[in-house]
Formats: sequence, C-alpha cells, structure tokens
Amino acid sequence: MQSDIFTEDFTTDPYWWGETPRPEIVWPDMPQQVDVLVVGSGYTGLSAALELARAGRSVLVCDSEEAGWGCSTRNGGQISRSIKPGYEELTRRYGTDTAFGIIREGSNALDWIADFVAAEQIDCDFAVPGKFTGAHNPVQFEKMARAAESQPAGLVEPLRVVTRAEQHAEIGTDAYYGGIVNESTASLDPAKFHAGLLRRAEEGGIVIATRCPVTSIEESAPGFRVRTGRGVVSARNVLVASNGYTGGVSGWQRRRVIPIGSYIIATEALPKEQMDRLMPTDRMLGDSRKVVYYYRPSPDRTRVLFGGRVSAGETDPRKSAPLLRRDLAAIFPELADVRVSHSWMGFVAYTFDTLAHVGCHENVHYAMGYCGSGVSMSGYLGMRVAQQILGKKEGRTAFDGIGFPTRPLYTGRPWFLSASVAYFRWRDGWNR
Ligand SMILES: Cc1cc2nc3c(=O)[nH]c(=O)nc-3n(C[C@H](O)[C@H](O)[C@H](O)COP(=O)(O)OP(=O)(O)OC[C@H]3O[C@@H](n4cnc5c(N)ncnc54)[C@H](O)[C@@H]3O)c2cc1C
Repeated sequence: MQSDIFTEDFTTDPYWWGETPRPEIVWPDMPQQVDVLVVGSGYTGLSAALELARAGRSVLVCDSEEAGWGCSTRNGGQISRSIKPGYEELTRRYGTDTAFGIIREGSNALDWIADFVAAEQIDCDFAVPGKFTGAHNPVQFEKMARAAESQPAGLVEPLRVVTRAEQHAEIGTDAYYGGIVNESTASLDPAKFHAGLLRRAEEGGIVIATRCPVTSIEESAPGFRVRTGRGVVSARNVLVASNGYTGGVSGWQRRRVIPIGSYIIATEALPKEQMDRLMPTDRMLGDSRKVVYYYRPSPDRTRVLFGGRVSAGETDPRKSAPLLRRDLAAIFPELADVRVSHSWMGFVAYTFDTLAHVGCHENVHYAMGYCGSGVSMSGYLGMRVAQQILGKKEGRTAFDGIGFPTRPLYTGRPWFLSASVAYFRWRDGWNR
C-alpha cells in the first residue's frame, strides 16, 4: 500500500462528513406500537416517513447505524434522470406506454428533488450546472451524438454535442473524443441534503432510532411484530428502505438486489488556477465507460471528487485510493502525484433488470434498487411508496406491475460480480 499518497489528515470518512458530521440523536423512548415502521434512515426511508407523518401516521424509523450512514451521505451528489435502460430497450421489454412512463418517472424524480429542496428550504448547495459526459473512444462519440439527435418525442432532454475540438471549454483534458452536455443534470451536497431531510422528519414528530437494527419482521394480524435492537414493536405497516444494505431480515428483497461497492476519493485542496483549468465550469462529469467514472469539483471548487469502481472484488478504501488516483491521472496527467485527503465507499443496489423497484410483497412495502443513481429517485419513490401505504392513487408509478426479478440460486451474495467487473473493465479498454 502506498502511504505517501495520503495527506496527514487523511480519513476514510466521506468528504461530506467534514462539514456535516453524523448527527447526534438522543435515544428516544421506543414506542411499543406505531402505524408504520421504516427500516433504514436514508433518503428513501426519511422521505417516506415525512409523507406518512404529514398524513397523520405515527412513524418509527430504525437504522442499524447512525442516521443516514448508508449511501445517502456517501454519494457523489450528481442528479440525473436515473433510468439506466434506454427507451428502445424498455419498449422491447414492456411496450411503448410503460417504456415512456418509466422514463417519465426519471424526469418526475428530477423535478421532485428541485421542488422539495425549495419547498422545504434545505440548504444543500443544490444547483443545476449540467453534466459533461466524455466519449472514451470515437465509436462511443458517434453513438452518443446519434442518440442526442434522435431522442424520443416527449422525452427530450437538453443535450448538446461537444466535439473534441470544443471540449476544453468543458474539461481540461484530451483524454476524450468529445462528448455530450446534458443541461438538466443537478448537483448537491448529499450529507447536507440528508441533514435537511432529517431536520424536517424530526420536526414532523417522527421517532428515529439509530444503532437499532431490525432483526425480524413477522406478520401478526392486523399488522406486524417487529423485533429491533431495542425491543419488539407492533406496526400496522412496514417499509423496507435498506437498498444496498438489505440483509436477511427481508430475504425476498435481498434476493432481488445486488450490493455493489462504489468508491470515491477527494484530492487535497488544489490551487484555484489549476481547478479552473481542469474543471472550467461547475458541471458534473462522467464518461461513456461501462464501469463508469463520476467526478466533479467540490461545491467550494477546491478539490476534485472522483468516483468509480476500480477493483474486481470489494476492497478497503485505502487500497482503492491509489487505483482511483491512477485512473484520475489518466484523465488529468498533472494530477499523477496529487495527494488524497479522503477515500470512502458505500454499497449501491443494482437489480437484474437495472431498474428501481417499488411495491409490496406479502404486505411488506419496499422501494429500492436505484442502480447507483438514487439521489432523486430514492426520495421520490420514498414519497410514492408512502402514498401507496396511505392508499392514495398518486402512489401509482410506472414501475408497478413490471415484476421484481431475481435469478435461480441467488441469495444476495453476488459471487459473479468480480468476474463481471473485470470483464467490463477489460472491455472499457483498461488492463489490456
Ligand atoms: C460512493 C457512492 C456514490 C454515489 N453517487 C451517486 C450520485 O452521484 N448520484 C446518484 O443519483 N446516486 C449516487 N449514489 C447512490 C445513492 O446514494 C443511493 O441510491 C441512495 O442514497 C439510496 O438511498 P436509500 O435511502 O435507499 O439507501 P441508504 O442511504 O443506503 O440507506 C439504507 C440504510 O438502511 C440501513 N439498514 C439496512 N439494514 C437495516 C436493518 N436491518 N435495520 C435497520 N437499518 C438497516 C443502513 O444502515 C442504511 O443506513 C452513490 C452511492 C455511493 C455509495
């Protein structure tokens, strides 16, 4: 392990926690009975809890760790439409109406977060700077340009093709063969967003029990008996909002999500001139690789935050840091010796159809499987699943009825992941 790449104050805590430390929550008196018990205190769980509490339901949110300890305070803060498969692929699978509806849900989620941040007055550096996605080879550039020019009617995004000759206005590198700007991509500070949600939840009278794992959920008419780290609670409804951290307590959901580690580094603070040269705008950044990189300037434009998946198997953030720095230097050679102040990871939840899922199985509600793009979709589907629990028709989504697939013999441990990541990194042109 290279230790000279780290700053003296290096930490494996997320960069965001420096300004927004994990909140101290006073241990509440545990209720013995609630209307709804929510498993997980990330964006999904809190957004759902807020919708339920505002409709007059008593809500208990349990988290095994501190509030927001999962992906919701670890992510890169890039917010796009969040739907992985394209319109043609979705049409092949489900027909045109459902395909259209699913992609519209991505736009709904993007609109939801902008409206929510404004309405709740959450101070989280929310902005809409757009995103530049670089083509890592000429074939990808042609594909991206064609896709930008033939967007389905009614689903058009504000895309602009950027040629290789023009790309220095977007990013200080020659590593790409041009790319695409999407002007609708938003950004925020994920931990500040979570802190704002948490504040609203607490003000709404929601009981938040941290360091309180849910260890079993048993149906007991007319609701559930839920065993937690702090005693048994009766709940009329249960919502599983544990995404990439879903464990055996909700085995049916666990067999349907694939936990995948996503890794990020923050560089040491860089001179302003260097930041302005490498990242001349505040745009979010990424590329066309299958094993994608996502990166950006920190909101105060002092550092580069660079994320991706650099090892086949899961690893220690101290080990992923030099690998991420190596790949960062392939884009910005002048950062080959930059020191790393933060290196961290979290588990996202992929699904076998690369779509998010929301619904109810054996009376247990769930919303999860955001496939690494859940900043807006998780809060949006949290709200929708809460509306489903409330029996409201607004709770219906285009994901209803598409089925939540698993695979034979899959129990929640992705034994196939290392081989898949190694293969896709090889296809992306690495390690050849
Ligand atoms: C490094 C990284 C970068 C990312 N970057 C982006 C990005 O730029 N843009 C984007 O859109 N998305 C990104 N994501 C994904 C996004 O952060 C997630 O999709 C989103 O935060 C999911 O929120 P959630 O509330 O569903 O889950 P989480 O925030 O993960 O919360 C789940 C919680 O459930 C708790 N839990 C699990 N089991 C139990 C139990 N039995 N009892 C009690 N509690 C339990 C966990 O402790 C955890 O706190 C990124 C994720 C990571 C890890």
